[in-house]
Amino acid sequence: MWKDVTAEQWNSWKWQLANRISSLEQLRQVIDLESEEAKEIAACLEKYPMAITPYYATLMDEANRSCPIRMQVIPSVRELQNTEVDQADPLHETIDSPVPGLIHRYPDRVAFLVSGNCAVYCRFCTRKSSTYGRDRICQGADLDKAITYLKNNRHIRDVLLTGGDPLCLSDHTLGSLLEMLRAIESVEIIRVGSRVPVTMPQRITPELCAVLKKYHPIWLNTHFNHPREITAEAQRACEMLANAGIPLGNQSVLLQGINDSPAIMQQLVHGLLRIRVRPYYLYQCDLTEGIGHFRTPVTTGIDIIRKLQGHTSGLAVPTYVIDAPGGGGKIPVNKNYIVSHSAQEIVLQNYEGEVCKYPEISEE
Ligand SMILES: *Cc1c(COP(=O)(O)O)cnc(C)c1O
Repeated sequence: MWKDVTAEQWNSWKWQLANRISSLEQLRQVIDLESEEAKEIAACLEKYPMAITPYYATLMDEANRSCPIRMQVIPSVRELQNTEVDQADPLHETIDSPVPGLIHRYPDRVAFLVSGNCAVYCRFCTRKSSTYGRDRICQGADLDKAITYLKNNRHIRDVLLTGGDPLCLSDHTLGSLLEMLRAIESVEIIRVGSRVPVTMPQRITPELCAVLKKYHPIWLNTHFNHPREITAEAQRACEMLANAGIPLGNQSVLLQGINDSPAIMQQLVHGLLRIRVRPYYLYQCDLTEGIGHFRTPVTTGIDIIRKLQGHTSGLAVPTYVIDAPGGGGKIPVNKNYIVSHSAQEIVLQNYEGEVCKYPEISEE
């Protein structure tokens, strides 16, 4: 499909965005589709849109329906089958929003939904019923309200730009947003949550890095879910960001049939450290409507972490969390390493199951 595309076009993020696969006809040109599957995809597209950058599409196995890349971006009829635990807004993000665009759940930090758009629409998106596939940008009166809110709430020291994907904004829009945030004295760190290094690495340009660098300390969390996503292009993107002085973290979602095995997770976290990305969170899949078929048992996540902790570099081990339904925030769920704890001693079990003791220190 892209035989006649020049290298210059291919390497341009604007070309990648403009040429995303969003219809069944386009999809047919890149993967094999049986007529039954095509019909199901058409039904799904009526409810949830599709977008896949040409770059990300080239990572798909065209003949294999259970390709881990393909499953993340190709619509499935199962998205239309809700289960009894599904909710439109399981994290109560609407309720916890004091002004449009801001989610204020924790005392000292906020999530700021700056753009509704994403390079690729992940089928397991936690905001599937809200921002999913929308082009809205936080601007004008909404932006003024958000900035005023941040100015008036001086205990907010950490602003997390999310969406959608903040790196779908132009350099200019992003730069002016960062400038406004940096002008607020109480804002200490700015974080960017972006899947673009994975789904559209062409977006990471020297110009973008120059914009971000002006407003340090900037931190960036990206979103790799599978080792196959760690390509030469993604590596180059992450290295450019790291070289601009931006510490990189990764948030993965535990996904049924995609990365729900200790072996795949180990390959992923090792690959991430090689490209200077620190695994940060592993999320249990949320209760959002239309993503039930991606959910795994919680024991799967606990088992994955148990098989990483102690067995490999501590740097490689993410914190496994459940973002609590009802807006309770992220809560770590890990194997309990404490066997007993008294005023005299704490008894622990190490990664090999061996029992270890440490005397409790008295408090005087
Ligand atoms: C995840 C999240 C944050 C950031 O949480 P950390 O645990 O500090 O990474 C902030 N606000 C909201 C609403 C969030 O969902």
